Formats: sequence, C-alpha cells, structure tokens
Amino acid sequence: MAHSITLIPGDGIGPEVSEAAKLVIEAAGVAIDWDVQTAGLEVARVGGNPLPDRVLESVRATKCALKGPCGTPIGGGFRSVNVTLRQTLDLYANVRPVKSLPRVETRFDVDMVIVRENTEGLYAGLELMIMPGVAQSIKLTTERSSRRIAEFAFRYAERHGRPRVTVVHKANIMKISDGLALDVTRKIAPLHPTIELKEMIVDAAAMTMVRNPNSLGVMVTENLYGDILSDLGAGLVGGLGFVPGANIGDDAAVFEAVHGTAPDIAGKGIANPTAIIQSAVMMLHHLGESAAAKAIEQAILRQYEAREVLTGDIGGKAGTKEFTAELCRRVREIREAQG
Ligand code: NAD
Repeated sequence: MAHSITLIPGDGIGPEVSEAAKLVIEAAGVAIDWDVQTAGLEVARVGGNPLPDRVLESVRATKCALKGPCGTPIGGGFRSVNVTLRQTLDLYANVRPVKSLPRVETRFDVDMVIVRENTEGLYAGLELMIMPGVAQSIKLTTERSSRRIAEFAFRYAERHGRPRVTVVHKANIMKISDGLALDVTRKIAPLHPTIELKEMIVDAAAMTMVRNPNSLGVMVTENLYGDILSDLGAGLVGGLGFVPGANIGDDAAVFEAVHGTAPDIAGKGIANPTAIIQSAVMMLHHLGESAAAKAIEQAILRQYEAREVLTGDIGGKAGTKEFTAELCRRVREIREAQG
C-alpha cells in the first residue's frame, strides 16, 4: 500500500531539490501518494498567508511531510513558516545528523548529531517594543519541553549506539532559563545509565565543534543555539548541501534539510539535493522502509566515492538533474541486487 505523505516544495531551490528527492524515492521502489501543498513567500504574495490551514490539515492527516525550505522576510513581514509549522504541530525535536561524506574534503571525519529543542526559547515569538527605542524578546523555557527534549536525546543515543549526550547551554549567564533546562537534563541522565552526560557552555561547544566534533556525540540544546550550531556543523562537512533534518513530534514528523531557499542559486538547476535526499532517507526509516532507505544511503556513498557526477558546490560539474539521474541509476542497481 502506498504511504500518504505531504510534500511542501517551498521557495527558491525547494521545488528543484524536493523533485530530486521524489525521484530518488521512486527509484527505490517505495510507493508514495504525495499530497502536494504549496507554502512560503509566493503563497503569501498571492493569498496573504504563507502557511494556509490546508497545509497544516494535510500534515495532520498524513502525519508525515517532506519539506523544501521556505523563505522568511527579515525584520518585518510574516512569521517564519518553519517556526509556525514546528510550533503548531508541536514538532518538538529537531534531529540533525552531521556526518562527512566520502571524498568531500573536510578537516575532520565528522560523525555527530544535533538534537535541537524546536518549539521554545527565543523562537517562541514573544517579542515586544516596550517603548520607542526599547525592544524585548522573551526566552521561554519550560520544564516540560526541557524534559521531553532531554528524554528524546538520551533515547536517540541509546537507539543509535552513541555513548554520550552533550547538553549545550549558557546557564552561567542565563541562570534561570538555561539553568532550568540544564537541571532537568541532569535529572533525566541517571534514567539512562549506559549514556554518559557531558555539559558544555555554548561558546565552548562551538570551539569544540571545530577542533574535536566527534567528542560531542549527541548534542542536545535549546532552539537558537541548535540553529546556529547546525550551520556550523554543515560547514564542517562541506556545506549546507549535506545536512539533513527531521522535526519530530508525538503526532507528526516533517523532514527537511538544514539549508534555506538559497536565493542566489535558485532556478539555475545547480543546487545540491543531497541534504533533502538524506532527509528523505530519515523519512523512509521513520516509515519502516529501511531497505529502501539503506539502498539510497549506499547509493549516495558510492556516488561521492566515485566523484564523477557531483554538483558545483563541491567542485563537480553536474546540475541537480544530472546528479539525481545518476543517483537514481545507482539506487535502482542496488535495489535489483537486493532482490
Ligand atoms: P541558505 O541556506 O539559503 O543559503 C546559504 C548559502 O548556502 C548560499 O550561498 C546558498 O547558495 C548555499 N546553499 C544552501 N543550500 C544549498 C544547496 N542545497 N546546494 C548548494 N548550495 C546551497 O541561507 P540564507 O541565504 O541565509 O537563507 C535564505 C532564505 O532561506 C531566508 O529567507 C531564510 O529565512 C530561509 N531559510 C529557510 C529554512 C527552512 O525552510 N527550513 C532554513 C534556513 C533558512
């Protein structure tokens, strides 16, 4: 039976890279009934609302979405589609595996995971102008959200055979908000005796990421630190074209790359679709389609090892379509060999 999945192509390079992910899933032989739902800047320009209710209703019904990036105006304008989607559907855990690919030149062979709290912190949207010239942004931290993200990180570490969780905070300065999250994490740790808990202040964590990233294991942190450190992680493994992500809640999950709409290369057919394809791999594991997911993982590794058909961001000459066609060929080959 086909899986029903919402597809949100998004803005900028979103439609190009999400089409690539669709083709690769098809090549892996997984039947999906896509409910395509537009959202983002263009939808806002036409109808005023970047995230119409039909999109949320679709994800509530399918419980699963693959999403391209959506643009957000800087300063004024509407609220981020991404933040609204995550908060409205309570997709509290943002999981971002940061892993080097073969023969992509980087300083280290990186293999770490960022688990970012996705619904609170400074992204809660509690901003106000107290008086002319004085603005305030409230960093919301609750015990409930701190507990469930810590639990998620420890369970993730157990399931994926990772011995350590590093909680990243700034409780030396934000003693009450980050202090609460840290305290809750310390209380959760003894419930997971096989996993070591390490504590690190966010500035030290940034430095450790560029010196010894694998020592961090599964990093669990609040919303803003997780957002910034994810891009740092992308830089470590060759760029934003390489880091996938999953937004997980109790009732739904939305899979999307870490990168944004890349307006500088949108429409040129040169975007690297690897990150959204890897997000699709996470989605297939989530759907129980592990053989197909592993075939795609294997095909990606082979394609990077061969270094023949790669996109321009890592020195290749192929466009998005050529890269995808070659990857689909490899996926079909692996699936046939699997029988
Ligand atoms: P960006 O990630 O879009 O681009 C940063 C740089 O990385 C650009 O030079 C871009 O060309 C390059 N890049 C990104 N993805 C790439 C890919 N797949 N292949 C090759 N190169 C790639 O970040 P930005 O420019 O800061 O943001 C642009 C817009 O995207 C903003 O409106 C922002 O709000 C939005 N955004 C959305 C999401 C999301 O939907 N989840 C995430 C981040 C940013």
